[in-house]
Amino acid sequence: MSTLLWRNLLYCFFILLSVMSYSQEQMSDGQTEMPYGGEGMPDNQKEIPDSARPQLALLLGTAGEKGWERFYELFGYGNAIALMQESSDFVWLLVYGGRMLSTPWPTVPRIALCVKTIVLKNTPAHTTFPDGEALITLDDKYVSTYPGSDDDVITEIEGVMYHEMTHVWQWFGVKEFRPPGPLIEGIADFSRLKKGFASENWVEPGQGYQWDQKKNGVTVYFLEYCDRQEKPGIVADLNAKLKESWDESLFYELSGKSVGQLWRAYKRFYKEL
Ligand SMILES: [Zn+2]
Repeated sequence: MSTLLWRNLLYCFFILLSVMSYSQEQMSDGQTEMPYGGEGMPDNQKEIPDSARPQLALLLGTAGEKGWERFYELFGYGNAIALMQESSDFVWLLVYGGRMLSTPWPTVPRIALCVKTIVLKNTPAHTTFPDGEALITLDDKYVSTYPGSDDDVITEIEGVMYHEMTHVWQWFGVKEFRPPGPLIEGIADFSRLKKGFASENWVEPGQGYQWDQKKNGVTVYFLEYCDRQEKPGIVADLNAKLKESWDESLFYELSGKSVGQLWRAYKRFYKEL
């Protein structure tokens, strides 16, 4: 297909997208109206409130950007939006649906997705918040050079999307009390893992020498163990606490065990001591 034709098609498509209304209700104030809460474990909160259903947008790339072209070929507009919706809903339910700590979620009026070259960081994707919106960027080169079959690429992008979508919805602590990066990444990987997209780049469960080690997979498997064996829901509750503050003692507060005790129990569980 000639470049000109391709461009024209994209342009027409852009016009089409502009007139399509994908608007769910704009976030009014998710912070004040909590539809759930109280005592006990998840009460099967399956309803996602309008305030947790932002507008979704796929930002079109430029012809010639190989990652974008590959992405669009594999997903198209409909599947890309569907993936965004499914991952957003999944993550929201995981961290806010029916939790014991009824927590406000971030105000997110719109989530946009694009495939572009990420210049400064060697990373598959990142999530930023320009103008109060969430923008997920998949790295063009990562998408264009990811090895394997089309199905492999699709699966990888789906996994990355669940990770990035968690960054859209999670809390990051506050200025004076930022959690370690591996905890933020571990929570994002937790969504990915729970959805069944464990990454090939992660260590095996039980490996590592420290719970917040900067090595892919260490923290997520530790969190998953804590959530499964020690205190169901602890990951969501940790996220809830991160809205206000961060301290390692949160692990004790939420589970009755210090993070060191939990780490040793984790290592024992996998006989990795
Ligand atoms: Zn991340």
